Amino acid sequence: MDYVRYFQDRLNDIKDEGRYRIFAELERQRGQFPTAHYYPETEEPAVEGVTVWCSNDYLGMGQNSRVIDVMKEALDKCGAGAGGTRNIAGTNHYHALLEAELAGLHNKESSLLFTSGYVANMTTLMTLGHGIEGCILYSDALNHNSMIEGIRHSRAEKRIWKHNDLKDLERLLAADDPDAPKIIIFESVYSMDGDIAPIREIIDLAKKYNALTFLDEVHAVGMYGPHGGGVAEREGLMDEIDIIQGTLAKAFGVIGGYIAASREIIDFVRSFGKGFIFTTALPPSIAAGALESVRILKQDDLIRQRHQERARTLKEKLRRAGFPVMPSVCHIVPVEVGDPVACKQVTDLLMEKHKIYVQPINYPTVPRGTERIRLTPSPLHDDATMDRLIEALKDVWDILSLTRAA
Ligand SMILES: *Cc1c(COP(=O)(O)O)cnc(C)c1O
Repeated sequence: MDYVRYFQDRLNDIKDEGRYRIFAELERQRGQFPTAHYYPETEEPAVEGVTVWCSNDYLGMGQNSRVIDVMKEALDKCGAGAGGTRNIAGTNHYHALLEAELAGLHNKESSLLFTSGYVANMTTLMTLGHGIEGCILYSDALNHNSMIEGIRHSRAEKRIWKHNDLKDLERLLAADDPDAPKIIIFESVYSMDGDIAPIREIIDLAKKYNALTFLDEVHAVGMYGPHGGGVAEREGLMDEIDIIQGTLAKAFGVIGGYIAASREIIDFVRSFGKGFIFTTALPPSIAAGALESVRILKQDDLIRQRHQERARTLKEKLRRAGFPVMPSVCHIVPVEVGDPVACKQVTDLLMEKHKIYVQPINYPTVPRGTERIRLTPSPLHDDATMDRLIEALKDVWDILSLTRAA
C-alpha cells in the first residue's frame, strides 16, 4: 500500500469536486468586530480591515470588554489550565458557578459542562443511547454531525425522521414497541437553512409515545427568549424539554458546551459519560468569561432585538437587490449559489476585490446543488457595512454572470 498516494488521491477527489476546504487565516482585533486582519496564502503581508460576514460570534460577545476583563482577572487569579479532569483536581469554583448559572438560564435543576458543544452532544447521546437498555433514538435528518456521531457510537437502534416532518416522526414512533425507551433528538434553529423546529408538536408526540426529548439550542442560546434561554424559552417550552444542549462558543463568544436537565439525568451523564470523565476540565478563565457572557446576555434583551432587526434589514436589502435569499426565519441569512465552483469563486472575489470574508458552504455540510453563502449579520454590522456588502455582491454576481431577480 502506498499510503501517501492514497491520501493524495482522496484529497484530489474533493479538489476536483471544488469542495476542498481552505481556511481563511484571520487575526481578530480586540474591539474591532466585525473587522479583522487577513493573512493571504502567499507570503504577502496581512490585509487589514477585512469585514467578516460569516462569524458564529453572533453578537460580538467574543469582543465584549467585560468578558475580556473577567477572563484576565481569572487568569491572574487561577493561572492557565484547570489542572486535571473534573474528578481529579480539575473542578474549579468557576465551573460550579457556571453550571449553576446555566441550570438557571434553562430553568432546570442541574447542568453539566463539556469542552465543546460537539463533545456535549456526542457524549450525552452516546451515554444515554448506550446506558438505557433497549433505547431507540429518533433523529431529525438534518441533525448536526455531533449528534449523528453520538447516536452512532451509542450503538442503540436509530430511526431518522424527515426534517421537521411530524407525520414521519409519528409514523416511526407508532411502529415501535410502545414499552421501548425512546429519545427524540432535534435542533431548534437549523443553522444552514435558518428554519426552526415545531418544538410544541414534537413535545406532544414525545408525551404521547412516552419519549424523552433532547434539544440542541446551539444556534439559539443567548439570542432567543427574554433571557437568552433559546427558542424553547421564547415559546415557553423549556420546562417540557428533558435535555437542553447549548454551546458557549457561538453567541456567548467563548468556548465550551453544556447540557441542562433534571438532577438525575445530569448525574447519570456525569457518572457514565466517557467524553466528560476522561478529559481535562475547561480552564478557569474560560469558565469565568463564559459565566460573565451568560450573565450579560440574560439582562441585555436590547442586543437581541437589535440582532433580529439587523437580520431583517439585511434580508430586505438583499431581496430588493434581487439576490436569491433562502427562506430563513431567524438571524441566519443564506444566499443560494447552487454550484460548488461558482460558490468558491464568489467568496474568492469578495475577498480579493472587496475585502469581504464569507466562507463558501458546500457538500457535505449542505446537499449538492444547494451550495450557498451563509451571512451572519451581528448587532455590529451597521447599515453602511451592509450597503458595502450589497454593492460587492452585485459586482461579483455580474462578473460571474449569476442570475438576480429584476
Ligand atoms: C456548532 C454546532 C455544535 C458544536 O458546538 P461547538 O461548541 O462549536 O463544538 C453543535 N450543534 C450544532 C447544531 C452546531 O452548529
